[in-house]
Amino acid sequence: MPGENKILYGIGVSPGFAIGRACLVNKKKVKAQKHIFLQKEDISKEVERFKKAVLMAVNDLEQVKTLIPEKYREQSHIVDAYILLAKDIMIYDTTCSKIMDENINAEWALLKCIEDIREMFANIDDDYLKSRIHDVKYVSEHIMNNLTGKEEQSLEKLNGRYIIVADDLSPIDTARLHVGETMAFITSLGGKTSHTAIVARAFEIPAIVGLENVIQEINDNELLILDGATGMVIVDPDSDTLQKYYEQQERFEAYSARIVRESHLPAETTDHYRINVMANVELLEEVVSVIDRGAEGIGLYRTEFLYMNNKELPSEDELYSDYREIAEIIYPKINTIRTLDIGGDKFAAHLFPDTETNPAMGLRAIRFCLRERGIFKTQLRAILRASSICKNINLMFPMISGVNEIRQAKSVLEEVKNDLRQENQPFDEDMKIGLLIEVPSAMVIADLLAREVDFFSIGTNDLIQYSLAIDRVNKNVAHLYDPLHPAVLRMIRQIVDAGHNQGIPVTICGEMAGEPMYVPILLGLGLDGLSMNPFSVPRVKKIIRQISMAQAKLFLDDISLLSTASDVNKYLLENVVPLFPDDFPTYKVSSILD
Ligand code: PEP
Ligand code: MG
Repeated sequence: MPGENKILYGIGVSPGFAIGRACLVNKKKVKAQKHIFLQKEDISKEVERFKKAVLMAVNDLEQVKTLIPEKYREQSHIVDAYILLAKDIMIYDTTCSKIMDENINAEWALLKCIEDIREMFANIDDDYLKSRIHDVKYVSEHIMNNLTGKEEQSLEKLNGRYIIVADDLSPIDTARLHVGETMAFITSLGGKTSHTAIVARAFEIPAIVGLENVIQEINDNELLILDGATGMVIVDPDSDTLQKYYEQQERFEAYSARIVRESHLPAETTDHYRINVMANVELLEEVVSVIDRGAEGIGLYRTEFLYMNNKELPSEDELYSDYREIAEIIYPKINTIRTLDIGGDKFAAHLFPDTETNPAMGLRAIRFCLRERGIFKTQLRAILRASSICKNINLMFPMISGVNEIRQAKSVLEEVKNDLRQENQPFDEDMKIGLLIEVPSAMVIADLLAREVDFFSIGTNDLIQYSLAIDRVNKNVAHLYDPLHPAVLRMIRQIVDAGHNQGIPVTICGEMAGEPMYVPILLGLGLDGLSMNPFSVPRVKKIIRQISMAQAKLFLDDISLLSTASDVNKYLLENVVPLFPDDFPTYKVSSILD
């Protein structure tokens, strides 16, 4: 039977092809079953099924309550309210009555019931009461998931070769997906630098985010072709298309294998300028792949995952052994450990008492650590102790916005060092301290900040988010997230100059560092290092080896005269890409389909 060849576009965030069957896992938005009229004899079973779904929701919520840490226990009244609501006559009794009186299935009855409640709430004058409809929606979705959805644990248990299709996945969900050797995933939410996308690249899972209504567009078990570079999905492909994609996939895999083999060659331009190409990692398990791909160190170790994966805070010893192990594996190369950057889209509910309306600008990263000194000090102790083993750890502080903040962070570090000295615990007295420039105010005063530290790392993911005012997880503005915006290029230049004037090196560790097409620009801007997802290291190194610094500077001179990101992009496509025919294969899906 000829396939439908339906084409959908999202944002390609992790390259690679996947050809396989869809698995809809998102609990929230799994399609409700069809509306079904029941035979008389099935009605009591259906009522029982509904009651069981409610009971499961109540048990889940009771379970959630036990996960709330002691110090935030008073917040558990919110969960209590949900539990009461699940058992409330408004939902419980009404849905049961609808099943029995109208002979319909539980999902349909529940939907009807929620519709009635929604109408009732819409007519309420009181804004507060009106807004309680969200609680009703939350609880009813929970029950609906138990009726129709797959279990959340199935993320871990899935051990098939599936393409996961979800409304949303948290960075943790994404990390768990790896366990099941997922082929790829597609979500409705997210942008190129959302942490979910970053984790996908870390695990080398082809991924597409920001594909609107994906849960409605794709059915469970449908055959899909996914191109994680272009963001395109072909639903129900015909056999010709399938064949072409198998060939494309083979070519891509052969190219990837070839560049990995060459990846240990140095990142040196044809006129002998060397730049440090490093990798970003989130988990210990990735470090071996960092070495295999020729990275010259870890330019960013995101330390959040040990905090997000556990209900309990990690102990100093757990952190110590993690940091120590990474330092030992990567030795003699450097491991740059970033202190905890929790908050924003790396939300760990158990650490935050309040929900913030704007978490990206809220209690995140260094702000959280300076408030939660105990948590911060435990991490610093672990980092310092691990630094004594191979003396190859650099430390950096995220989201610094001003001189006071870096001074405060350093003074906490000094306190911790003093404590360790008193306890005769060794650490590397010469451990280098750096900061991430990712807030516009830090960029503006980079000259002042440069006096405070040994190195800068530019976190372009956030610097772009905050300077262009684009939420990195908001798909509606994802198209505006442009590293080639002239403002971004000027900011990088200013930071590099400020760092170099003070004699400190400057690296980029945001996602733009791993974009091969940007390499000539980043070289021309004078960066000392680029740190990226391990997957990109071989390709970026290969491009560096094929270009001269003189040529890169000429490109940059031209680009500096351009006034829009699209002009810069066009310039790169016309002038840079053709120089590297092997490295920018035009696997444009549309041409394959033509
Ligand atoms: C950045 O903001 O560019 C960065 C590297 O940090 P993260 O993506 O973890 O916020
Ligand atoms: Mg950041």
